[in-house]
Amino acid sequence: MTVSERIDAVYAIAPHRAAYSPEEDAAHELAAAWMREAGLEVLRDGAGNLFGTRGDARVWAGSHLDSVPTAGRFDGVLGVVAAIEAAARLPDRPLAAVAFRAEETGPLGCKRIETRPDAYLELHIEQGPVLAELGEPLGVVTAIAGQARGTRVFEGHADHAGTTPIALRRDALVEAARFVLHVRECAREGTVATVGYLECEPNATNVVPAKVTVSVDARSAEAALLDRLIEEIGFDVHWRSDPVPMGDAFAAVLPDAPRLVSGAGHDAMFVPNPSMLFVRSLNGGVSHHPDELSSEEDIALAVDALTAALDRLTAP
Ligand SMILES: [Zn+2]
Repeated sequence: MTVSERIDAVYAIAPHRAAYSPEEDAAHELAAAWMREAGLEVLRDGAGNLFGTRGDARVWAGSHLDSVPTAGRFDGVLGVVAAIEAAARLPDRPLAAVAFRAEETGPLGCKRIETRPDAYLELHIEQGPVLAELGEPLGVVTAIAGQARGTRVFEGHADHAGTTPIALRRDALVEAARFVLHVRECAREGTVATVGYLECEPNATNVVPAKVTVSVDARSAEAALLDRLIEEIGFDVHWRSDPVPMGDAFAAVLPDAPRLVSGAGHDAMFVPNPSMLFVRSLNGGVSHHPDELSSEEDIALAVDALTAALDRLTAP
């Protein structure tokens, strides 16, 4: 089977393969069969992560097979299938192809890795429009952005929408609306910030809003910029991760490919010495959506690059 046929076969199990669901299990079974076909020994760790290993596997490549409810067919699956293909093309090399559990949803899975590699390579669809804008098929990831998530709460007073003069109102939603614009203005070069969720109370057509909770998602590949962004926006941080710099395993085989930051989190955040390569997303960079798309030509180039990087790292 070709890489594209294998990607289709995983999608045919079900577009939505939740962590530890029968659908994710079925995808792991399929991948395990392909690993054996590629001459790899199949192992599973305590968290259910799947390893196809050969020899003293100090270099790993892979991604995840779980997916979100509205998923496309490339997110995660591409990295696993490409790793198995690259392993088959390098039949005498010690390495492992890996499918991590629960990348999309779980606190378990890849964070419970029991053995640790010298290097980890992950091929992934970009899930954004940058490479398509540049007209480039592949991009070397320099870092996975650090993220801060939290909220800001605005308190007002619930009054009658018809009888309370504008000048006498304390409208929490008007203050929240100003804050949404402020968040947007704070995000400059090297950072992004998003308000994606509002909770308005009492959320009634004829009542002045009394309380609004606003979510904030702020990201940057540089810790200092992220700190400054959090400070400038002004919100209660509930969760935060530091940026994770990526290694040069792909840069070594693609010296001229564009460099870009990953705004999204990936399995590579939780594995030692990670390097990542992005494949161009078509259809405007849409992801976590059935229209998610990378071309067969771009995927072929990416699999070649992954094979070259693994070849270089596992050369005797
Ligand atoms: Zn993914």
